[in-house]
Amino acid sequence: MSTLTVLNKTITDCTACPRLVVYRQAIARQKRKQYRDWTYWGRPVPGFGDRYARLYVLGLAPAAHGGNRTGRVFTGDRSGDWLYDALYRYGFANQAESEHRDDGLTLTDCYIGATVRCAPPGNKPAPEEFTRCSRYLQEEVRLLRRHRVVITLGKIAFDHYLKTCRSQGRPMPSPAPKFGHGVVYRLPWSVMLIGSYHPSQQNTFTGKLTRPMFYSVFEKAREEIGTAGG
Ligand code: SF4
Repeated sequence: MSTLTVLNKTITDCTACPRLVVYRQAIARQKRKQYRDWTYWGRPVPGFGDRYARLYVLGLAPAAHGGNRTGRVFTGDRSGDWLYDALYRYGFANQAESEHRDDGLTLTDCYIGATVRCAPPGNKPAPEEFTRCSRYLQEEVRLLRRHRVVITLGKIAFDHYLKTCRSQGRPMPSPAPKFGHGVVYRLPWSVMLIGSYHPSQQNTFTGKLTRPMFYSVFEKAREEIGTAGG
């Protein structure tokens, strides 16, 4: 594997997790009523964005009727509405809408990945599925050589980014970074790690995550990148 293109092709063809293969394909066959005219993607969802990105956004896993339907990460669901709205607002996306793979959306200086690449039942991957999929996260982090800011959406993404870096031999700060919304850590390898609550409906409908709270995370990233040069 030498490029993100090769990595993404490998991800897209992966069948390593039997439970997730069955689930993602079943969802693609059954469909949600409002999407009955869609041909669901029904496969692992690769990363998306600018290979030279300084901002890396890491999510959990594709949604059954979002990324698993459209084939693009955070595309076609409410979480994506929040994410791309924020990316557009802070100049990382050319539009706020993300509806399907051919909608004209492009990212500048931003790349979006996921901790697990197949939609899991109940949005909950099993431990062994995290482990199997970690090879792709490892490679993605390695290939995104220019990333200087990481926004992790949710505690799981936060912990897995650090775990990945630790396994690559990066020196961990002590005490270990702790997840919280809006926490910022300057990691020893010149990366700013920012924690954010995930823009899932569970958080946005309940008011645990508000638009100003979410924007503040991207504002920090923009400030850091804006002053980082390049
Ligand atoms: S979750 Fe990852 S390792 Fe498992 S089948 Fe999907 S792409 Fe492959």
